[in-house]
Amino acid sequence: MNYEAVIGLEIHAQLLTETKIFCGCSTRFGSEPNTQTCPVCIGMPGVLPVLNRRVVEFAIKTGLAMNCRISSYSRFARKNYFYPDLPKGYQISQYELPICEKGYIDITVDGTTRRVGITRIHMEEDAGKNIHEKDCSLVDLNRAGVPLLEIVTEPDIRSPQEASAFMKKLRAILRYLRVCDGNMEQGSLRCDANVSIRPEGSDELGTKTEIKNINSFRFVEKALDYEIKRQIRVIRDGGEIVQETRLWNSETGKTESMRSKEEAHDYRYFPEPDLVPLEIKREMVEEIKAALPELPDEKKARFVRDYKLPEYDAEILTEERSIAEWFEEAVRLGARPKEVSNWMLTEIMRYLNETGKEIEEIDLRPPQLVELLELIKGGTISRNIAKTILPEMISTGRPAEEIVREKGLVQISDTSELEALVDEILSKNQKEAQRYREGETKLLGFFVGQVMKATKGKANPKIVNEILRKKLS
Ligand SMILES: [Zn+2]
Repeated sequence: MNYEAVIGLEIHAQLLTETKIFCGCSTRFGSEPNTQTCPVCIGMPGVLPVLNRRVVEFAIKTGLAMNCRISSYSRFARKNYFYPDLPKGYQISQYELPICEKGYIDITVDGTTRRVGITRIHMEEDAGKNIHEKDCSLVDLNRAGVPLLEIVTEPDIRSPQEASAFMKKLRAILRYLRVCDGNMEQGSLRCDANVSIRPEGSDELGTKTEIKNINSFRFVEKALDYEIKRQIRVIRDGGEIVQETRLWNSETGKTESMRSKEEAHDYRYFPEPDLVPLEIKREMVEEIKAALPELPDEKKARFVRDYKLPEYDAEILTEERSIAEWFEEAVRLGARPKEVSNWMLTEIMRYLNETGKEIEEIDLRPPQLVELLELIKGGTISRNIAKTILPEMISTGRPAEEIVREKGLVQISDTSELEALVDEILSKNQKEAQRYREGETKLLGFFVGQVMKATKGKANPKIVNEILRKKLS
């Protein structure tokens, strides 16, 4: 029997607000422990939470971008549980009446587009952080009260690849909206996955396990892949799946049983008495909707349509809003879209991947790339030379022309000079020339190579080709 996986995701996205959700403490990452706290976020008795308006705006923005219905009336709820990093003994979250419901995100895997339903998006506060030392445990409450969106999907995902494609699309949308930085390593985007298996073609849902602690895109696929195979093995061996929470261990590459899965009723949810219900006016939603940026899917479609880019190029260029904007600026300055795309997808992306930098952090700006392309177009330098100087332009921000001049890289396009050189090379390689004339035309590459070697790559390849063809015919 063949099995199929049924996967639903729960994503926590930390919001890029200046201050926490219910107090004025800073949300900055990486400060000294417990320096960004106050009586509200450390849960002193008698304090009252005050809702951060920006959090509501970010939630609505996200909901609209993910095609959700925005509730005109929603409510906060207390989720009760004890843990040392949660000094109040409860987390303020939303339960029965979340701010956003019934949305979707479309994903494409191997050329097939599928729709993944979003059950709900709600606002809540983050807990603090326990730090376990050798002989003691410490609590840092800087993160307590940092605003989160919890995004819950329908169990519409069928494979680890789809889960990872969904996470990438979700992250792209959050980053386009500038509501979350999407940094999985630092924990500002966290993903838990509910997984079960069932015989292919069946409509029933099997017992699910929840995997926690998936903190990178690579691990989303790996953890799910492992867990699906584990469940199939258990069933095939005649066993039963136990409903439980499992932890992904990236060192062993396995999921491990952590605890039996808690049910919603274990948390004794009830409406938060310290906050009034949240009423959202239509005008506020309309205002936010009107100000939404162009999102990845629309941008990609426009890049294909207006710039005649291949789907592949458009997909990669629109994954990040800043990359898309960089591209469009270069095109606005007069460069050919496909040409800009080629350079961005190869040399520039390679540099970004190697250094882990964002495009706005590098010194190369669109006008400098356009200038480099002009030098190629005008015949001053060859494409190969351009490739060799681009890394220096990226890392130093120096203009192309300056580097070309300093290193004496100006292309040799003088026909008589190149003809003399070709004559010399042909007389040194008479045997090859003979073979070429007898039909072995692929030797042209060999001759071009010889000319390039002699000129340290500076010969104009177009002219060299012409001269060679003429003299060899
Ligand atoms: Zn505080």
